[in-house]
Amino acid sequence: MSNWKIETNLIQGGYVPENGQPRVLPIYQSTTYKYDSTEHVAKLFDLSVPGHMYSRISNPTVEALENKIALLEGGVGALCTSSGQAASMVAVMNVCEAGDHFISLNTIYGGTYNLFAITLKKMGIDVTFVSAEATKEEVALAVRPNTKAIFGETIANPALVVTDIAYWAEIAHSHGIPLIIDNTFATPYLCRPLEHGADIVTHSTTKYMDGHATSVGGVIVDGGKFDYTNGKFKGFTEPDPSYHGLAYTEAFGEAAYITKARVQFIRDMGNYLSPQNAFLTNLGLETLHLRMERHSQNALEVAKYLKGHVKVECVNYPLLEGDSQYEKAKKYLQKGASGVISFVIKGTRDEAIQFMDSLKLANIVVHVADARTAVLHPASSTHRQMTDEELMNCGISPTMIRLSVGIEHVQDIIEDLEQAFNQIG
Ligand SMILES: *Cc1c(COP(=O)(O)O)cnc(C)c1O
Repeated sequence: MSNWKIETNLIQGGYVPENGQPRVLPIYQSTTYKYDSTEHVAKLFDLSVPGHMYSRISNPTVEALENKIALLEGGVGALCTSSGQAASMVAVMNVCEAGDHFISLNTIYGGTYNLFAITLKKMGIDVTFVSAEATKEEVALAVRPNTKAIFGETIANPALVVTDIAYWAEIAHSHGIPLIIDNTFATPYLCRPLEHGADIVTHSTTKYMDGHATSVGGVIVDGGKFDYTNGKFKGFTEPDPSYHGLAYTEAFGEAAYITKARVQFIRDMGNYLSPQNAFLTNLGLETLHLRMERHSQNALEVAKYLKGHVKVECVNYPLLEGDSQYEKAKKYLQKGASGVISFVIKGTRDEAIQFMDSLKLANIVVHVADARTAVLHPASSTHRQMTDEELMNCGISPTMIRLSVGIEHVQDIIEDLEQAFNQIG
């Protein structure tokens, strides 16, 4: 299975039916599992045999999706969470405890920014935001003895800054800490961060993986290569009292990170994915390769149209020639740069809003990355909690529009934009 190409794994990976079993991944709508003996249950609780205990920790439908996504990213294991936010939170809190610190690139999704800057801080985990263009020396100044991870996004939402994953992996490893990459926009079809040196990959599966705007979900994938026994990660090497003194690196080797995230964190915090949403996400994944190809083709064409438009001040699309991210995109996004474009309208904040309200095919939704073309005005929605200065630091202008190009006919998308431009100025 692991030798199959990504297209084949998208369709057939993760769930392999045996003789006479359903061809399509079944929804195991069961919280509970039945055992022949008390002894078997005891072994499950000791983590000495694999198996399902309770659907807050694992479930066969969700497990099939996890196995598929681990194959797609090339990891040793995956863990599905109830949302992308939960994935980001668990990914960080699995290595950071109260009193610890981590570094995040400042061009990240607004929800993740809030989680890091406000909520995790309240829980005693401190963050320093650095620019994606920061030098090694600048990062070294931000690293403290209690720094436990670096976090970034392959293609930042919505600034569309491409992270030089190999560069950041080298920096992280030189400080003995893992690199966590949120690969939501690229998906494993366009980029596989583990191959470039990242240690942990996260996703909001709510976006392209589901692809049809039906299911909120997230996933964490463990690359299995990072050495948590280097002295910085006591939570991995010292006995866990909640498992009779088991130590994760000793008991689970290369799968220590993802096992700890599941059996300690998800067990206690309870933010696991539901079987129903896993089923829908898996169904979405079956066409990911076809969709990402078309999203990327359509978006490049729309970006070229916008670039030549008199009412557009600038366009960001990583694979648009001349884009500030073009060189990095050529390296990391060889098959396409997803459907997400951002552009800045010439004019006022009100004109940007008027443009948005004039669109007919493109829907105003608080969502990106599904089959339908959608638009959002970050300054009045996802990023409205930020000051103008914070906005500009994240690369967001008050008249910036985030356009998520769908897989409709590209001519219809462009005509809709054109008629909306005609309503302003
Ligand atoms: C949407 C998004 C998230 C949060 O995911 P939810 O599923 O909405 O909780 C995290 N990171 C990125 C890049 C996103 O686009």
